[in-house]
Amino acid sequence: MVLLYKTISMPKTNLKAFSGQELESLFREWDLPAFRARQFLHWIYERHAVSIEGITEFSKDLREKLAEKAYVSNLALLEKRIADDGTEKFLFGLEDGESVESVLIPDDNRLTLCISSQVGCAMRCRFCITGKLGLRRNLRAFEIVDQIISANRLISPRRITNVVLMGMGEPLANFDEVVQALWRIREHLKISKRRITLSTAGIVAGIRELPERAPRINLAISLNATTDAVRQRIMPVAKANPITALLDACRRFPLQRGRRITFEYVLLKGVNDTSEDAKRLTALLKGIPAKVNLIPFNPHEGSEFQRPDDERVFSFQAILMAGNLTAFVRKSKGADILAACGQLKAGYR
Ligand code: SF4
Repeated sequence: MVLLYKTISMPKTNLKAFSGQELESLFREWDLPAFRARQFLHWIYERHAVSIEGITEFSKDLREKLAEKAYVSNLALLEKRIADDGTEKFLFGLEDGESVESVLIPDDNRLTLCISSQVGCAMRCRFCITGKLGLRRNLRAFEIVDQIISANRLISPRRITNVVLMGMGEPLANFDEVVQALWRIREHLKISKRRITLSTAGIVAGIRELPERAPRINLAISLNATTDAVRQRIMPVAKANPITALLDACRRFPLQRGRRITFEYVLLKGVNDTSEDAKRLTALLKGIPAKVNLIPFNPHEGSEFQRPDDERVFSFQAILMAGNLTAFVRKSKGADILAACGQLKAGYR
């Protein structure tokens, strides 16, 4: 009788997938002291190490032992495009062959990175290119954070100063991983919570739960309509999340001192850009510490909407301002490179 022996190799552990606490426990299981986990995090998050071999603070022996059972995943830069306004779009490849976009928006002395939270998006907002893709999968927390780590490496010695979760995907539809990512952005990348903004299409339950689970960050709402009928027409998510409930959740959202909720409003010609809309918007936002970003639609191939002319845009803004609302007209940044979500990467000032 012939016996066949097959060697089964254990898959290696991706150390980047662990939170700080989880990593300390794992290292303890491997008879390594907690400070080794802290050193690891420092090298990965701050010193641009891309592998265990690159952590030269570890002895050669320790690096070799760790590399036998573990590794560090990295995003692959598949493409980089620079727009005329200085906006840069990165296309990053993930381990399973999927890809996501991040957009770097330089603005005065800020470097804002707009990051993705999902591959594609299930929300299907009708003015958005990503919405047409549908949802392919949620990103894991480390894949969300890795967009910032990779961007920092690409732009070194400069560093990302501000983060907006406004790229591909609806962050509150990937709630647990996004919350994990927010803590890591805060604690390991040391970006102040005042400089982190989460933008949502308006998932009421998520807005209510966020302050209990996540660091106290800024909130942006992609509102885009002043009646439920119009909002449901252009944003299917509105069917389960009516405007009254959405604004009620905004009123209760605990803001940091001096902060306001940003309401994004993509102006679509003949759909949501009338003077009545502007007046309704002013009335709806009464009592909410709010500012409004008006973003004239940036038409793309196959889009069913048009951009209102400048006169309409500025008269819409004037009505909001007459109602004591702070309202900016934003250019869609990186328009010539079709930056991620297509419309919402308006400049953050
Ligand atoms: S606008 Fe945002 S939420 Fe809506 S489909 Fe696009 S990515 Fe999703």
